[in-house]
Amino acid sequence: RADIAVYRAKQLGRNNFQFYDAQLNAEGQARLQMEADIRLALEREEFVLQYQPKVDLHTGRIASAEALVRWRHPQKGMVPPLSFISLAEETGLIVPLGAWVMRTACLQNMAWRQAGIGPLRIAVNVSARQFARPDFVETVSSILRETGLPADGLEIELTESMVMEDVGNAIGVMTALRDLGVLLSIDDFGTGFSSLAYLKRFPISVLKVDQSFVRDIEKDDDSRMIVLSIIDLAHNLKLKVVAEGVETASQFDYLRSRGCDEIQGYFFSRPLDAAAFAALYGKHGETA
Ligand code: C2E
Ligand code: MG
Ligand code: MG
Ligand code: MG
Repeated sequence: RADIAVYRAKQLGRNNFQFYDAQLNAEGQARLQMEADIRLALEREEFVLQYQPKVDLHTGRIASAEALVRWRHPQKGMVPPLSFISLAEETGLIVPLGAWVMRTACLQNMAWRQAGIGPLRIAVNVSARQFARPDFVETVSSILRETGLPADGLEIELTESMVMEDVGNAIGVMTALRDLGVLLSIDDFGTGFSSLAYLKRFPISVLKVDQSFVRDIEKDDDSRMIVLSIIDLAHNLKLKVVAEGVETASQFDYLRSRGCDEIQGYFFSRPLDAAAFAALYGKHGETA
C-alpha cells in the first residue's frame, strides 16, 4: 500500500504525496481502532450468537443449528460478521473469538439438550487462521470436554480454500477431528477450487451448496445444473448435501424433489437468538 502511495506521489508531485500519506494514515488509524475495539468487545462480552435452523427434508424436522456470530456494539447496534471477521482474521483475534464462539455454541447445545430440545447438532464456522494452528484439535477437544457435549453434537464448517491451502496438513487435522467424533462439512461448496480427487480423501460428512447457486436455481440453467451436479456428487461420495440460502417455497420444493438432504435459509427461518430458536423448535422440531 505504501509503495503504491509513493508511486502515485511521484506521478503527481509532492503535495499529493502528503495527501495520500494522510489518507493511508487515516485508514491505518481506523484499523488500529477497530482492532482495539474487537479486543475490548471480547473482554466486555459484546459478541452474541444467533442460530439458524437446518431442516432435514426427509423427516421435516430441525436437525441442526448453525451458530453465526454478531457484535452487539454499544453504539452501532448489531454488527454483522462480514464487517469484522476479516479484520479479526488479519489480526489473529479470530483465535480467541473463534474459541469463544465454539465454546458458547457447545454450551448452548448442552442447555438445549437439558431442556429437551434436540438432540441437535450445532454447526460452527471456523476460519483458516484457527484451522492452521497446531493446537486446533486440542482446542476443540478441550471445549468438548469442558462443556460435556458429545463430539457428534458438534459440526465444524470449513471452506474449500482453507483445506486446499495445505492439503496434507488439512487431511491430518480433519482426520484427527473426525476421530474425536466431530462432523465436518465444506461450506460455500462450489465457489472454491476443491480437487475432486482430494474431496474423496477428506473425512467429511456434508457439502453445503453455496447460496449463490441456490438463489438462481429457477432463473439460471447453469446454477440449476451446478446444484444438481453437487447433489449427485455428494451422494456418490456418501455425503449429505445441504442447500443454504433457500428463500422461496419453489426453491424448497425443487430441492426436496431432487433429493437434497437438508435446507437452510430465510424461507424456513432467519438466524434467531437462542430463545426464539427454542420456541421455533417447539413448533417444528418434533412435529413438523
Ligand atoms: P456462512 O457460514 O456461509 O453463513 C451463511 C450466511 O448466509 C449467514 O450470514 C446467514 O445469515 C446468511 N443466510 C442464511 N439464509 C439466508 C437466505 O435465505 N438468504 C440470504 N441472503 N442469506 C442467508 P451471516 O450471519 O451474515 O454470516 C456471513 C458469514 O460470516 C458466514 O457465511 C461465515 O462465513 C462468517 N461467519 C459467521 N459467523 C462466524 C464465526 O463465528 N466465525 C467465523 N470464522 N466466520 C463466521
Ligand atoms: Mg457456514
Ligand atoms: Mg455458507
Ligand atoms: Mg458464505
